[in-house]
Amino acid sequence: MLYDAHCHYQFEELTPYWDKIATELEQIHLGGAIVNGTHPDQDWSTVNTLAARHDWVIPSFGIHPWDVATRPVDWQERFIARMEASPRALVGEIGLDRWILEPARANEPEMADLKVAGIEEQQDVFAWQLRWAAEHNRFASIHVLRAWGPLLEVLKDTPVPQVGFLLHAYGGSPEMVPRFVEMGAYFSFSTGHIDPRKTRQRKSFQTVPLDRLLVETDAPAMAPPHPRHPWPGSPDDDMTNHPANLAQAYADLAHLRDMAPAVLEEKVAANFVRATANILP
Ligand SMILES: [Zn+2]
Repeated sequence: MLYDAHCHYQFEELTPYWDKIATELEQIHLGGAIVNGTHPDQDWSTVNTLAARHDWVIPSFGIHPWDVATRPVDWQERFIARMEASPRALVGEIGLDRWILEPARANEPEMADLKVAGIEEQQDVFAWQLRWAAEHNRFASIHVLRAWGPLLEVLKDTPVPQVGFLLHAYGGSPEMVPRFVEMGAYFSFSTGHIDPRKTRQRKSFQTVPLDRLLVETDAPAMAPPHPRHPWPGSPDDDMTNHPANLAQAYADLAHLRDMAPAVLEEKVAANFVRATANILP
């Protein structure tokens, strides 16, 4: 069985093709996928609907760092109500992002309308959600982009879930890996994250202990380079990541660790089941 530790099946790029994609995911033997909501008004209810439809969808709710600035005033009450109504839900996607605060982002068309929150406001919202996850021992999915210092500041006085937490698409240094392992971290990677140009990520990936390794797609974001699972939409669309690219991610990661794919599958399955054990039926 294959497991996707971090994805966004609720995003609208996938909606028109969802039935076909769901069948294809069953064909690659998907055992479970952590589907991350990012904003209470935008996608939490779609995540919930998908989880009601498919046993292999594990819902996860959070306010993504890109959505901190537009969170509703009653976001804490909404979060608590959603989590209490979903005993199987995890926490995420939460985190910190300084990349979006770089002046160059304002010139990128898809970022131009994004209202962003400063790093301190992001830290407050992140720390509150992480503390809730720790108090209720639910696995948390964390996004960190160019914000490793601010992350360490939060972790200094915020508890983490005993069951662990995920540093998704880990882009920190290989030297920091042991420190995060000690805190209970898991690390997930996909084909795109270990592209040969990304020497640091490749090195970090090779440093992660096998009992903390997970595989992700971040689909429909982060389309990998070729080869790819055939996309049912426009043949010119090379930006949308088909969730079934998960199978290729496993193959590429096994190759880079010099492991038999079946061995990696077994290790990752054990890690995924351990991290989600307290919510799986
Ligand atoms: Zn994500």
